[in-house]
Amino acid sequence: MTVSPQPFRTVIEPFRIHAVEPLRMVTPGHRRRAITDAGYNVFNLRAEDVLIDLLTDSGTGAMSRDQWAAIQHGDESYAGSPSWYLFRDAVTELFPFRHIIPTHQGRAAEKILFSVLGGPGKFVPNNTHFDTTRANVESTRAEAVDLVIAEGRDPRHRHPFKGNLDVAALEALVKRVGAENIPVVMVTVTNNSGGGQPVSLANLREVRQVCTRYGLPLFLDACRFAENAWFIREREEGQAGRDVADIVRDMASLADGMTMSAKKDPLANIGGWLACNDDDLAEACRSVLILTEGFPTYGGLAGRDLEAIAQGLHEAVSHEYLRYRIRSTAYLGEALDRLGIPVILPIGGHAVYIDAGSFLPHIPPLEYPGQALAVALYEAGGVRSSEIGSVMFGRRPDGTEQPASMELVRLAIPRRTYTQSHIDYVIEVCERARADAAQLRGLKIVYEPRQLRHFTARFEPLG
Ligand SMILES: *Cc1c(COP(=O)(O)O)cnc(C)c1O
Repeated sequence: MTVSPQPFRTVIEPFRIHAVEPLRMVTPGHRRRAITDAGYNVFNLRAEDVLIDLLTDSGTGAMSRDQWAAIQHGDESYAGSPSWYLFRDAVTELFPFRHIIPTHQGRAAEKILFSVLGGPGKFVPNNTHFDTTRANVESTRAEAVDLVIAEGRDPRHRHPFKGNLDVAALEALVKRVGAENIPVVMVTVTNNSGGGQPVSLANLREVRQVCTRYGLPLFLDACRFAENAWFIREREEGQAGRDVADIVRDMASLADGMTMSAKKDPLANIGGWLACNDDDLAEACRSVLILTEGFPTYGGLAGRDLEAIAQGLHEAVSHEYLRYRIRSTAYLGEALDRLGIPVILPIGGHAVYIDAGSFLPHIPPLEYPGQALAVALYEAGGVRSSEIGSVMFGRRPDGTEQPASMELVRLAIPRRTYTQSHIDYVIEVCERARADAAQLRGLKIVYEPRQLRHFTARFEPLG
């Protein structure tokens, strides 16, 4: 028998299941009561009332056998634990910055960075600020400016690097507000709020050139660095066949620092860090760290968490894992596209984004088509998604309400957690929501907090 050199069409999960977690099946009547009690906000649901939870890929992944084993090695010494050195070495192997500052999650790194660098009259550009990043910039009264390329705002435009930052717009901003008022330039990889779309190495180099010309530090919001590097390997000229870890080091070498959530690509359930090369900035950030997180060798994490992250970082850059990860997200997105459900194309790394604005054209932006669709997916099949649209971004710092640039519903895929048949079920649920689309109605907000309203707002259906 000869073995065909052709690869198989099916990209299988590169693992088998070692411990199982039961899912709870709930009836449609139960779901209707649950979502009413939740004020039509899926964040207010009890997780037990959700069948397939695609609310977020943050901290929801399955840890590996080796990560659970690493947890047993956790050393809980207050200062200088061996777990800290293991963590620091795993981080600097990929991101060789001089200072690594551990935090309990990504937003804590943002809070520390912007409390040092932000302030009234300052401007922070980014391709697209993630919700917590924007909130942390704005809470210092600085202005968060989104400068993604025009293609990145067009859901149907198939550009290989829709997360790229518009370099001309960055330069125009520097000229308009003055380099002295821009404490840092951020680039989010992949661009989460813009569809999980990657940023090319070429674009990072161009942004670096502008930053160098005007003396601005460049920081990566690097939560999905491994997925971004995989897209570079697949799509960027001259990058095919390279080791993803080398591509990651190239990305890092163009930046002066980073913020990170270990709940994303590092495959951990908690954690994050802030990194930089500047000694003065690091000292200022460590002083805040000690006030808000903890001592610089644990920063709000247990030793066992540091171990799980260190092991997760090794697994995150495995080509077998990334091939499966990116393929399984595309599997869902391509199926929805074939059904005629409008999704952001090309499909991003960690999530599929339904364009709720075109899916529900009869619901105006400020009646929240994305929220209406998220509620419908839950009612139809117990699938929890999240709105990324006017509920999340519509309330401006001056108190006015304006439509967001896109009305999206994100189906985020937890890492190594659901199988292909779970995803086939999600596809069927979306198909059912499409059949009912014309009957869906918008919502009005009956309660909202002052900041980050999407987490706790309550709604009532209109009509
Ligand atoms: C999740 C995320 C953050 C914040 O990280 P947390 O760990 O949730 O605090 C920041 N930026 C991006 C792009 C993210 O996806």
